[in-house]
Amino acid sequence: MNLIIGSHVSFVSSTQLLGSVKEALSYNANTFMFYTGSTQSTQRGQINDELTYEAYELMVKNGINNDNLIVHAPYIINFANKSDENKYNFYVDFFAEELNRCKKLGVNKIVLHPGSATTCSREEAIKNIANALNIVFEKTESTMVLLEFMAGKGNEVGTSTLELKSIIDLIQKKDRVGVCLDTCHMNDSYVDISKFDEFLDDFDSKIGIDKIKCVHVNDSMNERGSHKDRHANIGYGTIGFDNLINVIYNPRLEGIPFILETPYINRNSKDAWAPYKYEIENIRNKKFVDFIQ
Ligand code: FE
Ligand code: FE
Ligand code: ZN
Repeated sequence: MNLIIGSHVSFVSSTQLLGSVKEALSYNANTFMFYTGSTQSTQRGQINDELTYEAYELMVKNGINNDNLIVHAPYIINFANKSDENKYNFYVDFFAEELNRCKKLGVNKIVLHPGSATTCSREEAIKNIANALNIVFEKTESTMVLLEFMAGKGNEVGTSTLELKSIIDLIQKKDRVGVCLDTCHMNDSYVDISKFDEFLDDFDSKIGIDKIKCVHVNDSMNERGSHKDRHANIGYGTIGFDNLINVIYNPRLEGIPFILETPYINRNSKDAWAPYKYEIENIRNKKFVDFIQ
């Protein structure tokens, strides 16, 4: 089986996609995910085509297929609330531009947190989210939006298969929307990852497995149903190494990208380091080797 595995990597203004590719290769990854700028702001720089071209040369040389690349939208986009119409419209325009940036970079899929229903009911939020996406899909011609399965922290929407389905049902251009699973979020919401095939059966009957276009692979620091959303390193959390291996190697998900968003080691110190090279090695070997100690 051809495993498509990578992690979230940085994308900085001086090196852009070229820097992202180099970082991914340093982890022995064959795909990666990045934010086109800050996760917390809508400030975005110009895409440098020269750097993109060099990035593609390096990708081709190393067998990285751009169809497996993922962009993640900044967290501050929230389509659930419409009480501030100006803000809602601003985010719609920004997100459409973000899709165009993806297109310029040759990235075909962008992950979006559906939103957080702070000033309205969840039913209202679902309509607001779908409405925003319908406008964005009219304004743009490609790039698929992957709605992320959320942990249910606070008023997050999209915390169950059914809720994701209710958004997708309201989308006009169904071929432009998909789902990004996140094993930590699923565990923290309600899903028993040790019974992943049962989850997939249910997902298939409600939405269809073919709509799963990416999986964020994270262990969790908290118990199932905690609604916390705190990622742990692979094999160091409550889900456990073997359960995550069974997700990654599930034949029903063959060929889709698996992306690590696990925390840096010593992340609060200046000696923080990325775990991805070691986690990817453990995943490829299907054998847990403690790399932190
Ligand atoms: Fe996310
Ligand atoms: Fe995620
Ligand atoms: Zn998360």
